Amino acid sequence: MPTNRLLPTPDADSKPFWDGCREHKLLFQKCASCGHVRWPAGVICPQCHGRDAQWIEARGQGVVYSYAIYHQAFHPAFKDNLPYVVAVVELAEGPMLLGNIVDCPQHDLRCDMAVQAAWDDVTAQCSLPKFRPLGP
Ligand SMILES: [Zn+2]
Repeated sequence: MPTNRLLPTPDADSKPFWDGCREHKLLFQKCASCGHVRWPAGVICPQCHGRDAQWIEARGQGVVYSYAIYHQAFHPAFKDNLPYVVAVVELAEGPMLLGNIVDCPQHDLRCDMAVQAAWDDVTAQCSLPKFRPLGP
């Protein structure tokens, strides 16, 4: 089904991440030398420059590091979503991931609030990670 949404274009490094998203899993590279869990994906660990890594599945939980509420669409693809929240989420495993916060009244948004991954199945081939408040 065609969509007017902006979708990621996976490259060789990020393809495992986006393949994981399609299965509602957050996958990150973990350095075999120092254990650093990194995002974005790449061939070299930014901490120790090691080249060996394995893909691990994150639990999908973290805290809001920072956020902004968008009241203006800087691209037509986002105009129907206004206002929306873009946040930097610090995952429990370490990576900082950019995503929308959903299912949260804007007056309840706080830095350091606990969140969990939520999934936006945009197409049959693409699911985007988002976050919602961690709750029961
Ligand atoms: Zn490393």
